[in-house]
Amino acid sequence: MRLRPRSIRTRDTLVAAVLAAVVSGAIAVGADFGIRGTVRADLVQDTAQSARRTSAAIRDGSLASPIPDDTGGRVLIQVVGPGGNLLDATPAAGRRAPVSDYRPPRDQRVRDFQQCSGGGLGRRCEIVEAIRVTTAPDSVVVYAATPVPAVLANGALEVLLLLGVLALSALAAWVTWRVVGRTLRPVALIRAQLAEISGSDLSRRVPQPSGEDEIAELAATANRTLDRLERAVDRQRQFASDASHELRTPIAGLRANLEDASMHPEDTDLKAVVESALRDTDRLEHIVTDLLLLARIGTGDAAREVLDLGDLARREIDRRDGAARTADAPRLVADLAPGVRVNGVRMQFVRLLGNLLDNAERYADGTVAVSVSSSGGFAVLTVQDDGAGIPEGDRERVFARFTRLDSARSRHAGGTGLGLAIAREIAQAHGGSLGIEDSVRGARFVLRLPLAAEKDRA
Ligand code: ADP
Repeated sequence: MRLRPRSIRTRDTLVAAVLAAVVSGAIAVGADFGIRGTVRADLVQDTAQSARRTSAAIRDGSLASPIPDDTGGRVLIQVVGPGGNLLDATPAAGRRAPVSDYRPPRDQRVRDFQQCSGGGLGRRCEIVEAIRVTTAPDSVVVYAATPVPAVLANGALEVLLLLGVLALSALAAWVTWRVVGRTLRPVALIRAQLAEISGSDLSRRVPQPSGEDEIAELAATANRTLDRLERAVDRQRQFASDASHELRTPIAGLRANLEDASMHPEDTDLKAVVESALRDTDRLEHIVTDLLLLARIGTGDAAREVLDLGDLARREIDRRDGAARTADAPRLVADLAPGVRVNGVRMQFVRLLGNLLDNAERYADGTVAVSVSSSGGFAVLTVQDDGAGIPEGDRERVFARFTRLDSARSRHAGGTGLGLAIAREIAQAHGGSLGIEDSVRGARFVLRLPLAAEKDRA
């Protein structure tokens, strides 16, 4: 069974009602005991006083008949003989039967008690003081009786207190229900609006309540999240359409070549067709590999380690120098500071460096300079060529996916247009940045990465 109500409003209302009931219940119980105790003490005192005064008057023989009543008939006094016969009484008490048939024993001459009769609302109680005037066996007994107020005798006091407790709990519940309802109204509006926002329409925003309370904060946060979501979805959509466009061109080329060969086999140079098909397949493979890599960067799948950036650059440069190079390949010069360590995924850094060097070698006239240093808590790697450079207005654009400034040339060289996008994505996934900075000649790419913390270097 589910005891916890689902709605906050119901839950808070219940809690307030129960709390109010417990607190006011405790106060009511205290008040009940207090009232009963004080009233009874007063009654006992009055009754005892009257009884004692009468008993003293009997002993010194000064008791009048009927007994004078100075309480306005409130306290009834009777003097009863040893046989239960009424000897004397106050005017009001003379008309009723003996107050009690209890005779105090000789060793305990005085006693007070409460006696009740009747039931329900008609229940009557009185406080009785019985005094055996002397220790003689035939001593008379003085009874004084004071009625207990009706609200105490018939339980009306408890009923009233209980009604008070119920009324207070109901009031607490009602106030809580109203207040929580008003507080949560904006939440309901936000929820309704969020429910209507779908993946296809992310332009809508939730209503923003005025003020700076938690709910206004919630709405602001939800709207900021929607902003980010909208941008991300836009980016994904753009990316998917770019990607399919990029893939369609080589596929169409491939298809045209193959169709042509199959329709005119006699005019076809089979070797040339296959070579061209292989080139297109290569290109498709590159694009798909790059797209997959882009999707995976920063997802936390790959293991990170502490890497010496200078070592990494040295290896990449040596590998390129060692590979068969054409005569007009640019010269690679390096200025690598030792001990510049960063935390990251080795394969991704190799890829980043590879992409920068591929571009630099492609666009350089004669030299590519690579440097590694550290400054202000960051490792700084620069790759600079002496080519035509990148106009200031294009320096951000080249990092977008599938951007090529000089399409014929880079397409011919097999670039996918994803190289710099991948490189920047890797830098950012490692808490760093990649940008193009001013240089006297050629393009100057600058990578900044946070240095590995001292404790990671062991
Ligand atoms: P691509 O696969 O075309 O090389 P990139 O993302 O690596 O894709 O580069 C995007 C574009 O940026 C290139 O097409 C080229 O126009 C420009 N670019 C990149 N590096 C350089 C450079 N060192 N000098 C001049 N232009 C560059």
